[in-house]
Amino acid sequence: APLLTATGVHKNYGNTPALRGVDFSISAGEIVAVTGPSGCGKSTLLHCLAGILPTDAGEVRYRDQDIGLWSEAARSRLRRADFGVLFQFGQLVPELTAAENVALPLLLAGSGRREAREAALGWLDKFGVADLADKRPAAMSGGQQQRCAVARALVTEPQVVFADEPTGALDQLNGEQVLGAMVQVVREQGTAVVLVTHEAAIAAYADREIVLRDGAIDPSGLGVAP
Ligand code: ADP
Ligand code: ADP
Repeated sequence: APLLTATGVHKNYGNTPALRGVDFSISAGEIVAVTGPSGCGKSTLLHCLAGILPTDAGEVRYRDQDIGLWSEAARSRLRRADFGVLFQFGQLVPELTAAENVALPLLLAGSGRREAREAALGWLDKFGVADLADKRPAAMSGGQQQRCAVARALVTEPQVVFADEPTGALDQLNGEQVLGAMVQVVREQGTAVVLVTHEAAIAAYADREIVLRDGAIDPSGLGVAP
């Protein structure tokens, strides 16, 4: 059975429809790229799937529970426990070091300081940035910051990671290196990833691609991945 399923999801901003009846599902461990032109609704879909934005109609089910019916507090607990999120840039807390940033989700989940720091160092190491553990984001390159952000998204070992243009602020080589490292780790962990991107080289890492156009899935399915 799929891990996460959306059925007939509609979302409007005021009177403007952003999603017009989207069906989507992702299985455990699967990597699905969501592509399509700017403004087609990719970010909105990701936010609805992650339970960040409530939908106007349709259903979002996670492990057979209709999370659309849950309270904001319950969805927030689910996001903390089972989901990870990754954005384009500017997501690290500037006052905290790399290790503190990566440890943060564990501290929020109730881990002790020492345990959280040790886990954070391990995750920084998986992404080749262990030597930056005590640096703040301003002292790191964009690629290094994004490696830390990926480590932070994965540190709680989520079932699903929602990644919105995670390489969008990086040049192509750096972007592919960061995503390649992330894909290797999520394959080992069996983490599912919803990967919003407009770049063919990034969509190529996914198992499957869905194409949105104007708030609906393009049935031709002609995506960007080679
Ligand atoms: P994409 O991620 O594919 O670029 P978005 O989901 O960001 O698309 O946006 C889909 C549509 O909804 C666009 O027309 C966009 O302008 C509009 N939109 C997105 N967010 C908002 C918002 N907070 N308020 C009003 N309109 C929005
Ligand atoms: P992306 O395509 O990566 O979502 P955008 O630049 O479209 O990036 O959107 C950045 C932020 O602005 C998002 O939080 C989105 O919800 C919001 N936004 C996008 N379009 C609009 C809009 N027309 N009116 C208000 N907010 C918007």
